Amino acid sequence: MQNRALFLDRDGTINVEKEFISSPDEVELIPGVAEGLFLAATHGFKLFVISNQSGVARGLMTEDDVVRVNQRLIDLLGSEGAKLDAVEFCGHHPSVTGRCECRKPRRGMVDRVLKRFDIDLARSFVIGDRVFDVELAYNIGAKAIMVMTGYGREELEELNSDHRPDFIANDLLGAVQWILEHD
Ligand SMILES: [Zn+2]
Repeated sequence: MQNRALFLDRDGTINVEKEFISSPDEVELIPGVAEGLFLAATHGFKLFVISNQSGVARGLMTEDDVVRVNQRLIDLLGSEGAKLDAVEFCGHHPSVTGRCECRKPRRGMVDRVLKRFDIDLARSFVIGDRVFDVELAYNIGAKAIMVMTGYGREELEELNSDHRPDFIANDLLGAVQWILEHD
């Protein structure tokens, strides 16, 4: 049977936004996130982090830095009972490394997940604080939830009026609660 999934933005959605996080010490979970992800997993959702990390292309961090930061995220969530199924990132930036297939809102990172997991995209969700997260949901045929943590409030004004999110949540825990209530 196909699984449902949450495709989760990282900075500003799971952990506190701090402009180009390059060290594990900078990873700070947003309150309620671990509880929300635990709840979602309990209800059968696979959990995937899908993260643009253009700081690599910009020379502000290395790919190894991103891997170390992601590992801290995995450890912090794991210590609160929330287990991520995969963490994907795109280190590119179009003005430095040219156009790539993986930078959100393009779907390359989701396609990498789909090579390893059988996911029903129409019954899955993209959750994030940025317009490109909402656009990713449209590009893969999933539902979109925008959170008001991170850049959420500023990004609300930048939304494409044809591509509205299915729900606007205060935070990731609120997003998961909404999903489970409407299940
Ligand atoms: Zn890329």
